[in-house]
Amino acid sequence: MAKILIVEDNPANMKLACLLLHSAGHEVLCAVDAESGLTLARAAQPALILMDIQLPGMDGLAATQLLKQDPATAAIPVIALTAMAMKEDQEKTRAAGCDAYIAKPLRYQELYAAIDALLSRAAPQAAGPAHPH
Ligand code: MN
Repeated sequence: MAKILIVEDNPANMKLACLLLHSAGHEVLCAVDAESGLTLARAAQPALILMDIQLPGMDGLAATQLLKQDPATAAIPVIALTAMAMKEDQEKTRAAGCDAYIAKPLRYQELYAAIDALLSRAAPQAAGPAHPH
């Protein structure tokens, strides 16, 4: 399926996200902080990134801004993961350049739907019905 990078510092959340992505047939890369996530994103060129917003040191918003400023990683869709499902936080993730937003705890239907939407947007020739006109 797709190569997906998870940047998440909480071991339980990381384990759940890995399990859900493996179950969907994806290849999973893991980073436990923003700095190693940025390095891995540049080196491995994942198809998509799941970015926890609350990370030790650099947070997920700052990391996403750097990803979107770097031509090597700007095209990779980023899904923000946050424990706070408040509207102002959602707006902050959009402002930072995140392409989608999921509130934790992760629900597999919501996660799969967000991933499928972004992957099909990134590669429209590979998914979805063809438009006749
Ligand atoms: Mn966290």
